[in-house]
Amino acid sequence: MYDVIVIGGGASGMMAAGRAAALGKKVLLLEKNKHLGEKLKISGGGRCNITNAELDQRAFLPAYGTAEPFLYSTFSQFGVADTFSFFESQKLPLVVEARKRAFPHTQNASDVLAALEAYMKQGGVTVSRGAAVTRVEATEGHIEAVYCGAKVFSAQAYVCATGSLSHPETGSTGDGFHWLAKLGHTIHKPTPTIVPLSVHDAWSKLLSGTSLSFMKITFYVDGEKQFSKTGKLLFTHFGLSGPLILNSAKKVADLLHRGVVTATIDAYPHTDLGSLEKNIISVFDANKNKVLKNVVKECVPLGTHRGVLLLLGEELAAKKIHLVTKEERKKIVRLLKALPLTIDGLMGFDRAVVADGGVPLEEVDMKTMRSRKIDNLFITGDLLHINRPSGGYSLQLCWTTGFVAGSHA
Ligand SMILES: Cc1cc2nc3c(=O)[nH]c(=O)nc-3n(C[C@H](O)[C@H](O)[C@H](O)COP(=O)(O)OP(=O)(O)OC[C@H]3O[C@@H](n4cnc5c(N)ncnc54)[C@H](O)[C@@H]3O)c2cc1C
Repeated sequence: MYDVIVIGGGASGMMAAGRAAALGKKVLLLEKNKHLGEKLKISGGGRCNITNAELDQRAFLPAYGTAEPFLYSTFSQFGVADTFSFFESQKLPLVVEARKRAFPHTQNASDVLAALEAYMKQGGVTVSRGAAVTRVEATEGHIEAVYCGAKVFSAQAYVCATGSLSHPETGSTGDGFHWLAKLGHTIHKPTPTIVPLSVHDAWSKLLSGTSLSFMKITFYVDGEKQFSKTGKLLFTHFGLSGPLILNSAKKVADLLHRGVVTATIDAYPHTDLGSLEKNIISVFDANKNKVLKNVVKECVPLGTHRGVLLLLGEELAAKKIHLVTKEERKKIVRLLKALPLTIDGLMGFDRAVVADGGVPLEEVDMKTMRSRKIDNLFITGDLLHINRPSGGYSLQLCWTTGFVAGSHA
């Protein structure tokens, strides 16, 4: 008999197990994969954006939108500063990069996993890998046992940390949502929220792999302007990604219900049309006898010339610079301020960083992470219905909810 059984060895489950064990509990962690923390290892492109270094809780928590008021009591027990101290205590200091994103100083997500595994080992957590929980047995608002096939495990308290639905190949296949629904919880339908966009425009495909900082994207529904955002953009073989896109996706999802969604990219948001034209004129003056397609590289952001040439058309691209008319030059300038795209949709769960949906916070005592439906169940991490931007906010939720669940389980 264990004191605590944690189901799911992702970020929040490992934190919960380690914390409960540090408080002297006999803990079993059940993980269905052969390895722990598969999603953690791909987080932040393998660098793992552990948290966001905004130490002022009142400035940090509004990033979670409507969940903010629920989170003060949880974060007062384990906040951003505690995340820094925790990883430091595990000999993995963090470094802070642009937009306050904090990473392990080794820039390697596997070291974050190793730190959590060490934390669990220090407390003597029993880790069972390849142990998929197939059934949760409960009577009258109380879990009696969990089953891994024919094997039965019991404990006084259970932490459900099975994650949501993004990147299901990492093990997050939504199992917890099924049990929680059966146990009486409401489950808001998960949808991919921090997710790349799919576009089919041929010019953008030519830019696959190109990453551009300080781009401004503006979205339209049926030609009517909706909203703009500036940031870093990544062209991929399926469309658009990067923080600018990931953090626009939720709003774009709403727009897609209303009509045809198009977008324009301003490649020089800090330069007005007149100044941009002047820059191009000076490039043209220095290259009068060259063909436009051989000069265009000097007029556009690095890595984009092939896409821009496709948009300009073969005839114009083949013209000698001194034959380019004023109107054609203005067309180039206008294009660089509004590269056109049609948004086909959001990519699916397989490419989503985060899916929203899950258990509404009203059904969880956020001081303890205890379910309000089941008296010996604690719920953590991506299972909770909390919207958040990219930039370390998801993992911070895992550290906080995992720690608090482990403290009270
Ligand atoms: C590509 C990508 C990049 C990301 N980058 C960042 C980032 O840089 N910063 C950030 O803050 N967030 C990032 N995130 C989000 C972050 O990784 C997640 O929010 C976090 O890992 C969720 O942790 P979790 O503990 O809730 O669940 P998960 O990590 O999903 O873990 C759930 C675990 O439960 C196990 N499990 C599921 N069902 C069962 C079962 N039936 N029995 C036993 N075990 C089971 C799974 O195998 C899995 O190991 C990223 C996500 C993705 C997909």
